[in-house]
Amino acid sequence: CGIIGIVGTEPVAERLVESLKRLEYRGYDSAGIAALEGGHIARRRAEGKLRNLDAVLREAPMQGRIGIGHTRWATHGRPSVANAHPHATTEVAVVHNGIIENFRQLRDELREEGANFESETDTEVVAHLVTREMRGGLSPVDAVAAALPRLQGAFALAFLFDGDDNLLIGARKGSPLAIGYGQGEMYLGSDAIALAPFTDTIAYLDDGDWAVLRRQGIEIRDSSNRRVERAVQKTTATA
Ligand code: GLU
Repeated sequence: CGIIGIVGTEPVAERLVESLKRLEYRGYDSAGIAALEGGHIARRRAEGKLRNLDAVLREAPMQGRIGIGHTRWATHGRPSVANAHPHATTEVAVVHNGIIENFRQLRDELREEGANFESETDTEVVAHLVTREMRGGLSPVDAVAAALPRLQGAFALAFLFDGDDNLLIGARKGSPLAIGYGQGEMYLGSDAIALAPFTDTIAYLDDGDWAVLRRQGIEIRDSSNRRVERAVQKTTATA
């Protein structure tokens, strides 16, 4: 039930897990992270407590400087490694809090076009929707812009893209999501507590907003794809 993302200048795996530990209070049944390793999406996932994910990472460490992390509170599909987030195709990895209510309809549509589903979650349709748009020729940003209006339900989402070491996208509707501003690093997360180890300078996205994070800055767009500014605030959450 928590999301974290870092587009960073140092390896992110340990920092993602540390941040997820700060979101443990929300409850969860499994956890995972994705990072770019040699430019490509790589994932580590585990059922149960975050110390299990720690153990997986000790066996198979990650070096990537950009990544996303998730603690899952299963709504669709039992708690398992296969259902743990991030969900991914060769193009994109996604983490999600909430419920995609029209996932069955979307899954049928995507399956008919040849998408191969690896989990029982509602979330995986989001990865395949964005992938379809990218394979159709859209950039990652345009692909997310095209996919978001198809999603019904409540969500906070974070996306990581294969081959792009300087791009994370976050989106929210009905579930909270904050962005954080650092020194040459940018962050997204479920709340100020998750971001506190990295920065005290944050902004909360409004409902329907989505944000494009690069090391140099963050661009926020509303649900009609207009550029918007959201109030930047200093948090008192303690690191
Ligand atoms: N509905 C998604 C799932 O069951 C996300 C659950 C969550 O909010 O952690 O995998």
